Amino acid sequence: DSEPKKEDLQQIIQLMDGFKASKALFTASKMGVFDLLQRKPGLDAAQVAQEIKAAVKGTEGLLGACVSLGLLQSKEKSSQRPVYKNTDLATRYLWSDSPFSLHGYIQHCNETLWPLFSHLESAVREGTNQHERAFGKKANDLFQDTYYNNQSVKLRFMNAMHSIAKVTGKAVATAFDLSSYKTACDLGGCTGAIAYELTKAHPEMSVTVFDLPEVVEMSEHFHPSHTDNRVSFVAGDFFKDELPKADLYILARILHDWPDEKVHILLKKIGDACTPGCAVLLAETMLDGQTAYSALQGLNMLAQTEGMERTESQYADLLSKHGFGDTRVVRTMNFLDAFLAVKM
Ligand code: SAM
Repeated sequence: DSEPKKEDLQQIIQLMDGFKASKALFTASKMGVFDLLQRKPGLDAAQVAQEIKAAVKGTEGLLGACVSLGLLQSKEKSSQRPVYKNTDLATRYLWSDSPFSLHGYIQHCNETLWPLFSHLESAVREGTNQHERAFGKKANDLFQDTYYNNQSVKLRFMNAMHSIAKVTGKAVATAFDLSSYKTACDLGGCTGAIAYELTKAHPEMSVTVFDLPEVVEMSEHFHPSHTDNRVSFVAGDFFKDELPKADLYILARILHDWPDEKVHILLKKIGDACTPGCAVLLAETMLDGQTAYSALQGLNMLAQTEGMERTESQYADLLSKHGFGDTRVVRTMNFLDAFLAVKM
C-alpha cells in the first residue's frame, strides 16, 4: 500500500507526456513526414532527414517517437537500418490530401492553440482568451482582428475548420430527418464543407453559406471537385446584416465562439426570420458527460475565444428565449454533436 502502484504511475506519466506526444505529432506533420512517407514508403531515417532538410539525429528521434505513438511502422531488414512507412491511421488522417485529412487542424493546433495553451494559467486566472499574450495583439473580434488580417493565417484557419468539418460533416448532416426542410442557411459556414455534406445527404435541399466577406472570397479554394449548384455563398456579418431566408438555420461551431449576450443577438435575428416549423441545427461539442475531449475543448474555448463550450440544457435555455423548443440531441461520437430545435 505504501509503494507507488504501477498503473497509477502509468496514468500520471501518460498525462505528463501528453504535450510531448502532441508536439511530436505536430512537428512530424509540419515537417511533411507523413506526406513524404505516403509518396515514398520505405525510406530510412537518413533518407527522410535529407528530404525534410533536417539532422539525421533529430529525424531518428522524431521517427522513433512516431513509431511509439502508432503513427509510423518501422521494419528492420537484417543488419540494415530500419525503414519507415505510415500506419493505416496516418494514411487515413495525417497526410495532407487524404479525404479525411486532419492536417489542417493539426497545423492550427501547432501554430495557434499551442501558444495560447502556454498561457493557460493566465486564461484560468483572468477568465479570458490569451491572444494578446501569445501573439501581441488584442482580439476584440476574434475573426476580423486575429485570423483574417493576414492571408496565410486566414487560410490556415479555414483549412483547420475545413478538415474537421469534412470528418464530422456527414454525421451532423444525417443525425436527424431533415427531409421537410428545403432551404438551409449555414451561418458562419466557412468553406462550405458542411453545406456540401447536407446537399449530398438531402437531395431536395439547397444551402446558402453565409460568412464574412474575407472568408467567402477564398471559399472557391475549398470547393469539392464535383461542385453542386444547390450550394451558394453570401457574404455578410451575422450580427449586423440581414440573414438569408431559410427554413433551417445551421450553426456549426458558432455559438461556442461567443458569450451569452452575443449569442442572444444572433438567436434573436434567427428567431425573427423563422416561422413556426422552421428549425435551428447546432453542431457543437456538448459538455455533458464530461469526456476528456469535451472538457479540454472547453479549455480551448477559454484560451481562444470570448465564448465557451456549453451543455445541452444551456443551449436549450438560450434557444427557448427565442421561441425554439422540442429539442433533440444526437451524440455523433465524432468531433461535433448535433442538436435540433424547432420554432414553436
Ligand atoms: N461553421 C464552420 C465549421 O463548423 O466548420 C466554421 C466554424 S468557425 C469556428 C466560425 C465561423 O464563423 C468562421 O467561418 C467565421 O468566419 C464565421 N464568423 C465569425 N464572425 C462572423 C460574423 N460576424 N458574420 C458571419 N460569419 C462570422
